[in-house]
Amino acid sequence: MASALTEKLSRLVKEMRGQARITESNVQDMLREVRMALLEADVALPVVRDFIARVKEKALGQEVVGSLTPGQALVGIIHKELAATMGAGVSDINLAAQPPAVILMAGLQGAGKTTTTAKLAKLLIDKRKKKVLTVSGDVYRPAAIEQLKTVTKQAGAEWFPSTPDQKPLDIARAALDYAKKHYFDVLLVDTAGRLAIDEALMREIQELHAALNPVETLFVVDAMQGQDAVNTARAFKEALPLTGIVLTKMDGDSRGGAALSVRTVTGAPIKFAGVSEKIDGLEVFDAERHAGRILG
Ligand code: GDP
Repeated sequence: MASALTEKLSRLVKEMRGQARITESNVQDMLREVRMALLEADVALPVVRDFIARVKEKALGQEVVGSLTPGQALVGIIHKELAATMGAGVSDINLAAQPPAVILMAGLQGAGKTTTTAKLAKLLIDKRKKKVLTVSGDVYRPAAIEQLKTVTKQAGAEWFPSTPDQKPLDIARAALDYAKKHYFDVLLVDTAGRLAIDEALMREIQELHAALNPVETLFVVDAMQGQDAVNTARAFKEALPLTGIVLTKMDGDSRGGAALSVRTVTGAPIKFAGVSEKIDGLEVFDAERHAGRILG
């Protein structure tokens, strides 16, 4: 599938040799192939349309310099545009707040919030030498609280206890109070997810956001979710001022088109990529490399 695109593009590139300019006629076939590739990579259709229109506008009439053919020049433009779209914005984690810097984790159930919370705790301890506290506001799944306890221990961070009979808002306030009293640099707040978007969930996380005033509100989304990621992203963006995205399960075999969709829909920078189930499986998102993966 991926190699098919590269093959098709190189064939079209060959056909375009000897033309000095990217024109309406030679750009059309190339863009059709790229459109197919983006759809195969599970980028949402409206996002694909938008992207292709932007590339076409940039490419048309462009002089082709040096030894490049129009085809090669177009491939360059597409790659650059894809990387720029996904990589625009600040990508480092922001801790610029009166300590504790609060990081709120949002997303659907199964997206990888709890795992990512612990991975992020480990990263902040190892790379930034921070004192990190985690807490779970997921009172609907008792196993979720235990799960956070286990992975927090693996990360070497401290876990703040909570129980299913408490209200998420009370848990969050108590954790914040504890973090202040004990001089934690960062408080990571894991929240409840649902299998699908629902109003009660959104209201709850909005209340948490208002009470905690987090410096980062990270939207955690499964890269394997493909087309569905767009609707989820839109709902979370409408409910919360998202400051960043974490794409999980990038070690799966999806081409990762969700990155382009989610970035476009939310406008928030993609900060991290989850690349394994393990505690150290979190990487800073590399837009350049990911553009290559999407295009195949
Ligand atoms: P939550 O419901 O959003 O808290 O999701 P969890 O953190 O419980 O993760 C759901 C499942 O996805 C678990 O089995 C995790 O081990 C797995 N998972 C999370 N992130 C990744 C990742 O980056 N790669 C892989 N392969 N699995 C992941």
